[in-house]
Amino acid sequence: MATISSAAAALRRLEGKVALITGGASGIGEATARLFSKHGAKVVIADTQDNLGQSVCKDLLEQSSNASFVHCDVTKENDVENAVNTAVSKHGKLDIMFNNAGITGVNKTSIVENTLAEFKEVIDVNLVGVFLGLKHAARVMIPARSGSIINTASVCGSIGGVASHAYTSSKHGVVGLMKNAAVELGPYGIRVNSVSPYVVATPLAKNFFKLDDEGCLSVYSNLKGTSLVPKDVAEAALYLASDESKYVSSHNLVIDGGFTSVNPGFC
Ligand code: NAD
Repeated sequence: MATISSAAAALRRLEGKVALITGGASGIGEATARLFSKHGAKVVIADTQDNLGQSVCKDLLEQSSNASFVHCDVTKENDVENAVNTAVSKHGKLDIMFNNAGITGVNKTSIVENTLAEFKEVIDVNLVGVFLGLKHAARVMIPARSGSIINTASVCGSIGGVASHAYTSSKHGVVGLMKNAAVELGPYGIRVNSVSPYVVATPLAKNFFKLDDEGCLSVYSNLKGTSLVPKDVAEAALYLASDESKYVSSHNLVIDGGFTSVNPGFC
């Protein structure tokens, strides 16, 4: 019996933990909400897409997981503050903050063609949104003296020439912000990391690159015979959220099959 229960515990790596996931209604965030739930976490999904977010929660509740939805636009400080407060008032604490919501903005290659409004829109969601998530998660994690904050950056947080100027700038910013926050929050027992995926077949990538599922799966891959799917990024976030990564902080976990090392230009 003892063997069975310890095996079950090993399968539920986030048992009892409370996780808030921004952008949890779709793509990588949705896959992460489903995986974290499977591993015993109480999940709060924060997104602007209310119907989609609520339907993911309904699905999780039907599988006996503890999941709830809160409307949250990550560019609005009141919304982010409210999302964090909702998680804490519902569950008494916040263990994991996944700052994942993001947009690509328009796909214009020339900086001359970019309007200031287009540039600012992407920075607002992808970078300001992560700043607000970090700030309000830290607000409740500092007194608790523990927590794991994970931010979704991108391969565009390490290299240029793949996406728009705004997107690349925002994701480099996410990696920089993650490093600064990790240094500040480490003494409080709070770890801060990021995940940096290559192209994953989600609505965001399909719209941006004008690819269908198959197209997304067949873009350049350095790893023969496999392609990146949302669950792969969720698995990386699971590692960073769990106690198995207890000494990992200030780390940008690149999930790209070696793409950024080869960097031959985007196909
Ligand atoms: P997605 O479009 O499937 O999901 C993004 C989610 O963020 C959506 O549910 C959307 O409603 C939400 N969102 C957008 N703006 C928001 C806002 N202001 N406030 C709250 N929620 C908002 O796309 P995805 O690919 O799963 O993207 C998740 C993250 O992964 C993003 O940060 C994206 O930049 C990053 N990323 C994606 C890829 C890829 O190829 N798909 C690659 C690298 C990084």
